[in-house]
Amino acid sequence: MALHDIQTRIAAAEAAADRPAGSARLIAVSKVQPPERVEAVLAQGHRLFGENRVQEASERWPPFQARFAGVQLHLIGPLQTNKARQAVEMFDAIHTLDRIKLANTLARLAQERGASPELLVQVNTGAEPQKAGILPEEADAFVAEVRAMDLPVTGLMCIPPVDEEPSLHFALLAKIAARNGLAELSMGMSSDFEKAIRFGATYVRVGSAIFGERAYD
Ligand SMILES: *Cc1c(COP(=O)(O)O)cnc(C)c1O
Repeated sequence: MALHDIQTRIAAAEAAADRPAGSARLIAVSKVQPPERVEAVLAQGHRLFGENRVQEASERWPPFQARFAGVQLHLIGPLQTNKARQAVEMFDAIHTLDRIKLANTLARLAQERGASPELLVQVNTGAEPQKAGILPEEADAFVAEVRAMDLPVTGLMCIPPVDEEPSLHFALLAKIAARNGLAELSMGMSSDFEKAIRFGATYVRVGSAIFGERAYD
């Protein structure tokens, strides 16, 4: 089974990096996947899933959550401010905090609800113009500003440029997290999660290697 293979490879990567078992948690990225594939992974006992769209997640997950206890959902795609309320009600973590306006909205919602999802700041480690995220040189100031809003920022997330060696980006993200005292590193996907674990990933986001290729229509 693909899920079991990935879990085995994660355990081996943790051991190879002298890291405790379970220190790199697997987010099964279920976006776009047909429900029967998602159900098969739920039936095997996996409970941590990633989605990249609020709308899609809100349609897909309530029926599964009624049948499978303990599901945790993480938002790994861009969040529009006007979807923030829906997002904080549905997700246990948001990996894509990338601007002050969104932080302000999340802070207001946290005040109102007395709770907030765990938040990770997305860093655009490759400084790619089309990609979301805070620039590396602005990350320290951004983290400080968001912490001053009393938001529960636990870590950083990155998506390295497709055509570059990801290790440099993983190392940069780990360095920024360390100097800001942030414990969580969300990095590594199907093609590079073992490398990410070597560089300290605490969350790996794996989709197609578990579920198969995504069929977009
Ligand atoms: C889709 C997606 C993934 C998973 O990608 P795979 O290559 O299928 O493992 C991971 N992270 C983000 C942000 C994604 O959008």
